[in-house]
Amino acid sequence: MRNGWALTLAGFLLLATPVLAADPPTPQSLRTPGKGAPDPIGSYANGCIRGAVELPTEGAGYQVMNLSRRRNWGHPDLLAYLHDLTSKASAEKLGRLAIGDLGMVRGGRMPTGHASHQMGLDADIWFVLDLPELPAPEREREDFASMVNAKAQRVDPSRFGPAQARLLQLAAEDTRVSRIFVNPAIKLALCQQTTGDRAWLAKLRPWFGHAAHFHVRLSCPAGAGQCEGQQPPPPGDGCGAELMSWFEPPPPSPKPPAPPKAPPPPPAACLALYAEP
Ligand SMILES: [Zn+2]
Repeated sequence: MRNGWALTLAGFLLLATPVLAADPPTPQSLRTPGKGAPDPIGSYANGCIRGAVELPTEGAGYQVMNLSRRRNWGHPDLLAYLHDLTSKASAEKLGRLAIGDLGMVRGGRMPTGHASHQMGLDADIWFVLDLPELPAPEREREDFASMVNAKAQRVDPSRFGPAQARLLQLAAEDTRVSRIFVNPAIKLALCQQTTGDRAWLAKLRPWFGHAAHFHVRLSCPAGAGQCEGQQPPPPGDGCGAELMSWFEPPPPSPKPPAPPKAPPPPPAACLALYAEP
């Protein structure tokens, strides 16, 4: 009788123990790029990339920061763009570029830091241009100076100088670039000081933050059929009312702010890419 009970109990426990299915891999747990030709999939804020390539952690005229994050992967077009920008900046002796996050090895949503940077087409570049060549442990930092006097909502001219302005112009003039996010005060300074050709100003888009770094976003590469791009910025240099609206206090809202929405699920093609060996 006791044996019977024991068997029944054992059977119950067996049934009650859930089958432990392996969790689907998270994009940040992956170590190798997806096999195949480079292919950005989805959108900048909800996507992934097959065939990403790794930006070497340092080279002539640049160094990548925060190497422990392993976010120095991107589409080959992004690496070519960064290479060209570095060469131009070096030729004009603007300084050594400090490259921030690109994307993860197969792209995807990062657990910290960014909503976008998911398709291997976004890169952050710090405005600091006078860093010496640093050993890897000393690159684990984000405490770079803001170019903006937050109280005055204007750039700090002792930090944001001609070299930073020229770097942004070189960065924006490249035809591969869709837009560049900068703090509204930085856009305003460039709107006020740029003479001659102003077409490149259109690609500078005001956004919160972006006072110690700027964020370059490339357009979808030709033939990237699964890449959802964005509309080009509105016509004109973007120096008018829309820019100025960033400096106005938000109108009082009668309703409490809505709770943050959960991000949408990744595209099925990205989940499949993460599951590949
Ligand atoms: Zn960014």
